[in-house]
Amino acid sequence: MSAPLAVYAHVPFCLRVCGYCDFNAHAGMDGLKRAYADAVVAEIEGWRPRIAGRAVASIAFGGGTPGEMPPESLAAIIGAVRAAAPLAPDAEIGIEANPGTTSGAALRELVRAGVNRVSFGAQSFAAAELAFLDRIHTPEATAAALALARDAGVASVNLDLMYGLPGQSPAAWEATLDHALRLAPDHLSLYALTVEPGTPLAARVERGEVAPADPDRVADLYEAAGERLEAAGYRAYELSNWARPGHESRHNRVYWTYGDYLGVGAGAHGFLDGERFENVAHPRAYLQAVARDGRALARVERPDAATAMSDWIALRLRLVEGFAPAAFADRFGVSLAAAAGPPFDACREAGLLEEAGGRLRLTRRGRLLHNEVAVRALDHLRGRAGVA
Ligand code: SF4
Repeated sequence: MSAPLAVYAHVPFCLRVCGYCDFNAHAGMDGLKRAYADAVVAEIEGWRPRIAGRAVASIAFGGGTPGEMPPESLAAIIGAVRAAAPLAPDAEIGIEANPGTTSGAALRELVRAGVNRVSFGAQSFAAAELAFLDRIHTPEATAAALALARDAGVASVNLDLMYGLPGQSPAAWEATLDHALRLAPDHLSLYALTVEPGTPLAARVERGEVAPADPDRVADLYEAAGERLEAAGYRAYELSNWARPGHESRHNRVYWTYGDYLGVGAGAHGFLDGERFENVAHPRAYLQAVARDGRALARVERPDAATAMSDWIALRLRLVEGFAPAAFADRFGVSLAAAAGPPFDACREAGLLEEAGGRLRLTRRGRLLHNEVAVRALDHLRGRAGVA
């Protein structure tokens, strides 16, 4: 039997584009929303021969701001997935939403359509930090949105928070964390602010108006957050994610375990049967492509063995539980020791990796240096003859 499938649907619309954002998000295109939903439905129908019979374990709407789509449009997309492939009875169906544009009526309609997980882009509970980030919502709006989600019967509610903002003191970050904890979300995702090339924030940094936070201080904020969340009963299960028991993201777990997922919508990525897909990014180009071909593929590629192995390792190491080396051998037909023994030995000696219960995982210090471990594995695999 084929492994379960995750489905990701990208919604590229936002009321306003935040200065730090480098996602495929566009403002001022509200008039396209219904046509866009129709195109996503058509795209899913086009994928039907490829995914028919694969049990769909999760659907995730990301963006952009899916929560600002007409609820019936999201319901139609969920219906299209159901029609194309069997949806597991306990499937996780999640949407990202902006606390500043959340309505109880929309949430209730979404729950009726099967949505059981909502992730709010809270980012901060300091009004000045939200203004710096160009967010349209207030701290009070996040509290209100979370209450609306509870009232609507959403089973799992996540808050995204952002740390490492320029000038953010440890006390300010802890105040945001404490505010979030008082609201008792089921799940918290913490992301360091990164200055992405080409964004308005990057231009401000270039002009000397904004000084990025010092990486060592950012690492301290991450560590302090972990201690605070764990003391409050949240378990770290992935580098950026903490959950109360039973509220871990099953959809994202598919990504972290190198599983298959279908990506639909503008700029969406997918990974099916060893092939990576990417759709055309601009919403108008996406609409035209689907109208013309029923598809909107911009790129299809099959990663070479070294890339596949290093991706697998980098993703699995994001999970706090790490992985059993035998799982690597099962997937690639070569032992982990033979494929990437030397960098793993070096990382173990450097205190970045450890073995526990037959699994290999990052140490607490290693979690701060995940990228370095992944790059070492990739460099080694790239240098190996005969792997591809
Ligand atoms: S709301 Fe999210 S997706 Fe939209 S512009 Fe802001 S950061 Fe980007």
